[in-house]
Amino acid sequence: MQDAGIRVKIDNIKPDNFNARKLKRFVQRWEIRDANGKLYDIKSHQFRATFVRELIKQKVPIAHVMKQFAHVSVEMTAHYLSLEEDEIKAIFSDLILKPNAKIAGLQASEIRNKLDVVFKGKTAKDMDDIILGLSKTMSFNPLPTGICLYDFRRGNCTDGDGCFMYNCPNYVTEVSFLPILKDELQLLETEMRRLKELGQEPAWQVQYVKWKYLKPLVEELEGQDIE
Ligand code: SF4
Repeated sequence: MQDAGIRVKIDNIKPDNFNARKLKRFVQRWEIRDANGKLYDIKSHQFRATFVRELIKQKVPIAHVMKQFAHVSVEMTAHYLSLEEDEIKAIFSDLILKPNAKIAGLQASEIRNKLDVVFKGKTAKDMDDIILGLSKTMSFNPLPTGICLYDFRRGNCTDGDGCFMYNCPNYVTEVSFLPILKDELQLLETEMRRLKELGQEPAWQVQYVKWKYLKPLVEELEGQDIE
């Protein structure tokens, strides 16, 4: 980049170098100290949660954020998002409940049909109020490829430990998750082909059960994506 004779070079610094060179100097310069008075050993990793939260608040699609940050578990997702409950409700209710939301899952048609009835003849402002009201009564638990609507105040769900999501009526996903779901389907199909070639029928059956639920989800979202 060149401006009025000033040359500025922009380059990517590896995280370790950034921590050791830039952040260390920053802490020294601004005298940032811990409770014991020692210079604070800050690492760039500590900004991840804030960075993710800000991306989501700027309406960067949540699926894109999760993909970039390779969130593979609900725990990690929740940890990195570290959003306030109200913020989660606002983001997910808008995603799932807005008029013409492109959603899929075992309960998706029922949700859509109920909302169509409630939204009929309403103004945009009325609909926003309805969504806000509904979001207050519902639970939204972020998952790597969608949302779990189960209310954990009722106790743990029966399948929580082995949550496979796609066969659960509490799981709903939205079209912004489609790229991740497609990647997952592709991996699953590759693995199934490999197991078939190896003649490992029981292992193939395990993957097939997953495929049976994942494939229609992808197709349903793809159908809505081109509408
Ligand atoms: S099994 Fe269903 S209810 Fe339980 S965590 Fe997974 S999506 Fe939610």
